[in-house]
Amino acid sequence: MSANKTHSCDLLVVGSGAGGMAAAITARLHGLDVLVVEKEALYGGTTARSGGWLWIPNNPLAKREGMQDSREAGRTYLQHEAGNHFDAARVDAFLDNGPAMVDFFESKTAVKFVLGPQFSDYHPNAPGAIAGGRSICAEPMDGRELGAQIKTLRPPLKEITFVGMMIGSGKELLHFFNVTRSVVSAAYVAKLLVKYGRDLLTHGRAMRLTNGNALAGRLAKSAADLGIPLWLEAPAKQLLSEAGRVTGAVIGTKDGDVTVLARKGVVLATGGFPHDAERRRQLYPHAPTGREHYTPTPPGNTGDGIKLARPLGAQTADELPNAAAWVPISRVPNGDGSFGTFPHFIDRGKPGVIAVARDGKRFVNEGNSYHDFCQALVKASKDLPRGPEGEVEAWLIADHVTLRRYGLGHVKPFPVPLAHQLANGYLKRGQTPAELAAACGFDADNFAATLADYNKHAAKGEDPAFGKGSTAYNRYLGDPSVTPNPCIAPVSRGALYAVRVVIGDLGSFAGLKTDAHAQVLDGQGQPVPGLYAAGNDMASIMGGNYPGGGITLGPAMTFGYIAGRHAAGMAE
Ligand SMILES: Cc1cc2nc3c(=O)[nH]c(=O)nc-3n(C[C@H](O)[C@H](O)[C@H](O)COP(=O)(O)OP(=O)(O)OC[C@H]3O[C@@H](n4cnc5c(N)ncnc54)[C@H](O)[C@@H]3O)c2cc1C
Repeated sequence: MSANKTHSCDLLVVGSGAGGMAAAITARLHGLDVLVVEKEALYGGTTARSGGWLWIPNNPLAKREGMQDSREAGRTYLQHEAGNHFDAARVDAFLDNGPAMVDFFESKTAVKFVLGPQFSDYHPNAPGAIAGGRSICAEPMDGRELGAQIKTLRPPLKEITFVGMMIGSGKELLHFFNVTRSVVSAAYVAKLLVKYGRDLLTHGRAMRLTNGNALAGRLAKSAADLGIPLWLEAPAKQLLSEAGRVTGAVIGTKDGDVTVLARKGVVLATGGFPHDAERRRQLYPHAPTGREHYTPTPPGNTGDGIKLARPLGAQTADELPNAAAWVPISRVPNGDGSFGTFPHFIDRGKPGVIAVARDGKRFVNEGNSYHDFCQALVKASKDLPRGPEGEVEAWLIADHVTLRRYGLGHVKPFPVPLAHQLANGYLKRGQTPAELAAACGFDADNFAATLADYNKHAAKGEDPAFGKGSTAYNRYLGDPSVTPNPCIAPVSRGALYAVRVVIGDLGSFAGLKTDAHAQVLDGQGQPVPGLYAAGNDMASIMGGNYPGGGITLGPAMTFGYIAGRHAAGMAE
């Protein structure tokens, strides 16, 4: 590959998500001349589509609120969660640098966070876990602060917006659920809708950025304030090295290839391999051809970081028990034969929502995390027939009262009509269990028995079969106004409804092996000089597990920060 033009910098960052931008901003603030290159026409990657939550044990926001946490408790929890895959050196680096990273960004950049005080760790009964305080979210942002750069910020995932409007987590979401029950909530939502309407007229998009869009926007604003150039439609195509040291990369641009020489090295932050069907085939047990899997991540995340690093001897953590962060996905018909992807984060925990597999039986505490839900489904489906495209499938079920109160997946609560979701087949309905089973294609007799058993106990707010509502995390997703169990209500009031879910991911875990400085390791376990990985290009430190809300973005920004400092000679 030959490139005529050259460009020099200290640090080249490949990818404009949280991992890459954190590295770029940190390095710049430590005096380096930095360039960020992004393959797509839009910047922000999966980060811009995300919830924008970072999981940081013992973080400064929780401290300020007087919440109880400690580095030791965080370590105990992570050791428990990662089991045999616990990587002490990298976990210690994460625990030491995570709170410092938050302080650094809050004090020196436009990145600001808010605490989710009730956002429980996902396994709150495990040693070292706490029921809230480790998850922090990007503070909403006014898109006008980005100036012209708002036009190239990747928009949020369409399916999780309300007709294109972003809905923040926590309080804001609660107002949406209560819109028909409280005048305050109705007024709050009306105000947001009016503002959204105005934004659409004047800017053609929502300008009130929340969640991942706020995080990506705040990172972009910080980078722009520091004068960091961001090249769009500029994929890294090949790494350059001299005597084993990475010295830059060949970058494709509209005007031809450019040789970028980077004196301090290159940070790979291309967002992992969620769209690399071959790697999915190798590592995703539920996807024997690599195609029986659906991802809401952006299409450019094709595993380029791994492919770029392999010729230099880089290794990947293929031994992790889960190669990605799993999430149940429902496929939303777009009306033109294509489908959108709706990730099911919160509806499963609501009272009156249960899930059944192809055999018509429940298989999990539905209020558990998306990662745990999917693992249980794959296990329960081992000997069951698969869906029309060979996919593992399940159905989320609710009765009419629950459906209209909370919605289900892409179906919104009352007063949003649901006729079109029934017409396009996204939502199935039956007047009886047998009718619903026939509409969906799961076992009718087992389903009738499952419902009868569930409803018998639900009348008392109990779930002896799976313990839905038994953990702080379950209850966080439930409805506190429902007693005695905020996650349990009958599934018997009026018609029955179902939405089909399949296995998807939020990003991959099995990335490049790195050391505690985010340096990529070769086959001998030695750092490849000048080569760093951050975000999902770096192997997850969670050992294939998913301990809490924000366990990809927390480490992504922390190891980006670590890489930036190391490249600047701050942390030898
Ligand atoms: C709906 C949703 C919600 C989520 N919510 C959360 C959450 O709240 N908390 C959490 O921790 N995680 C969450 N996740 C996961 C999280 O968003 C990702 O793990 C994280 O954003 C990955 O960050 P990254 O920097 O590694 O990659 P990305 O943000 O995906 O950025 C990578 C960028 O690299 C670019 N790129 C690829 N190849 C090249 C190349 N060759 N040259 C140049 N550029 C390239 C891509 O185009 C992309 O823009 C969520 C995911 C989804 C889909």
